[in-house]
Amino acid sequence: MSENLPEFTGYNFTFAFGALILCTLTMLIAVRMICRAAMVKGRSHQKRLLFSACIAGNGVWATHFVAMLGCANSMATTYNVPLTILSMFVAMGLFVPTWWSECRTPNRSRSPRTALLMTITVGSMHYIGIAARGDTGLEAIPPFWIILSLTVGFAFFYAGTLLLRQQRGRRRSLAAIAWVLGICSLHFMGMPDAYLSHETMGDMPQHIASLSLAETVGAGASTFLALACIFLLLEYQSARRKIEDSTRARSFADAALEGLVVTTGSVVLDANSAFWNLAGTRSNATYHLKNFFPVLATEEIVQKLIKKETPREIQMIRHDGERIPVEVYARESSWRGKPRTILAIIDLRARKETEATIKELAITDMLTGIGNRSFFVASLTDLLQDKTRNNPVVVFLVDIDRFKNINETCGHAMGDKVLSHIAKRLQLLVPQDAIMARIAGDEFAVACVLSPDDVTDFASYLALELKIPLPDGHDELPVSVSVGFAVSDDDMQDGGQLLHCSGIALLAAKQSGRGNVREYDRSFDSSIQNRIRLEREIQLGLERNEFFLEYQPIMSTLDRRLVGYEALLRWQHPERGRVPPDQFIGIAEDCGRLRTDRPAWRLGRAQGLS
Ligand code: GH3
Ligand code: MG
Repeated sequence: MSENLPEFTGYNFTFAFGALILCTLTMLIAVRMICRAAMVKGRSHQKRLLFSACIAGNGVWATHFVAMLGCANSMATTYNVPLTILSMFVAMGLFVPTWWSECRTPNRSRSPRTALLMTITVGSMHYIGIAARGDTGLEAIPPFWIILSLTVGFAFFYAGTLLLRQQRGRRRSLAAIAWVLGICSLHFMGMPDAYLSHETMGDMPQHIASLSLAETVGAGASTFLALACIFLLLEYQSARRKIEDSTRARSFADAALEGLVVTTGSVVLDANSAFWNLAGTRSNATYHLKNFFPVLATEEIVQKLIKKETPREIQMIRHDGERIPVEVYARESSWRGKPRTILAIIDLRARKETEATIKELAITDMLTGIGNRSFFVASLTDLLQDKTRNNPVVVFLVDIDRFKNINETCGHAMGDKVLSHIAKRLQLLVPQDAIMARIAGDEFAVACVLSPDDVTDFASYLALELKIPLPDGHDELPVSVSVGFAVSDDDMQDGGQLLHCSGIALLAAKQSGRGNVREYDRSFDSSIQNRIRLEREIQLGLERNEFFLEYQPIMSTLDRRLVGYEALLRWQHPERGRVPPDQFIGIAEDCGRLRTDRPAWRLGRAQGLS
């Protein structure tokens, strides 16, 4: 067996080095082309497969013959043209099913199919190429070494396919190295010159001389280089287009105000700047949707979201643990040529804050900062319906006496100050859980649960404590209030009803002179109804011109001279007849239809109007 060991005496290793470079280049390009072919579908996939088979076949063929040129014997021999050409087409043709097989093999597969096809491809090309030699061919190689060359070649090819499937990115080039080793071992173990040291040159028809072989190989290698250059150019253009596309897509995505997330299953593949800003992180770690959205824990939920036409409001957990409300839409779309789920996330914090502010404003009195009428009625109704309380609900209405005077004498700004002042003071006087609001111009309402024994005392306490001097040194004008209150009975459910009763009590307090306190009594109802009717009739009387003046002369007792007139307002009612002044003047004054505090200069010496 030892005499059969391959010997490389007289071999020109410059050619071997050239062949190695050619082979490495071929396999590196092949690896890249297969990866790219696997990423696309249809015609583009088929074209890439065919092109990569041509490059690989041509490259391996040129490698074989360049290596062959290094042998002293082969330089002195002739080659069969059809077989030489056949060996090239066999290589290119057989690489088609080889690469096709690899593109269809899953990444985790350990299938040896591609390695087997590769062994057949490279082996066929090599041994047909050997058979094309005119001097010594296959018969010079011991069968053992033929089998060994194919076996070792297969081992490297298999290692290469496994590396290609398991590695990512640039590390996939390791597959090319393994394949180069496979091709080289197959070639050098299966070279007849290594087993026969001296051969003579035959003289056969249809054979080409070694010089022509060098030319043929040169042409093959040039074809390969041309193909490789075309490939590199196409690759460069495609990579540039891809970068441009992805830059454009990223600029678009980053310009969007809402967060955009690309997912597969529940894994986050990519996201735009708005999303990372919202999430408060931007690391390269692998994230799942549930890291940010606990409710989107399963793929089924995401699928339901895709089917839903409208957005869903959910909670997002930021990187720092803060929970924020967001609105999320999900759509299926293509991303980098693959079907993916795209989520659009809208931050709802600003909208929620605005809604809360609007809600707050709708129930707040802007001047004093306490609640307004709607807030009071709604809260009072809730309190009335609360079955856990042990005592009745009492509503106190506090109205500033002659507030219009303050406005007119000291200005509206001072009036506003008084209102704010009273509101602040009231807040200090009422129990902490009391409901408080400004329900009209100078009217404040307080509702609280009180023992019936304390109600009157509390109303008097309010009236007393709110009797304050005007702010800003206007001590000469003291402010006083009138208080009316009503206590709920067991079946009272409506806040508006209790408020109405305390309003009647307040009116009674006002009627009895100001600065008083009155509790609601059913007997108030009829007199209040009368008053309300009269108020309405005064309004109608004004429109129908039922009021007129009568002038009473004023004489001087000294010289019996006429010194002026007293103007007296009279009301001729169509049904009631002449209404006595004491029945309507007070009401007209109260409801603002008549002002007796202005000087009646037009009437001469004023004496009042009644
Ligand atoms: P009474 O003793 O009968 O209560 O007499 P009054 O002058 O206080 O009359 P009333 O309570 O009916 O009048 C309330 C006035 O409050 C009417 C309006 O000019 C004034 N007012 C209403 N809202 C505001 C406000 O926000 N600021 C100021 N400064 N005045 C207001
Ligand atoms: Mg008032």
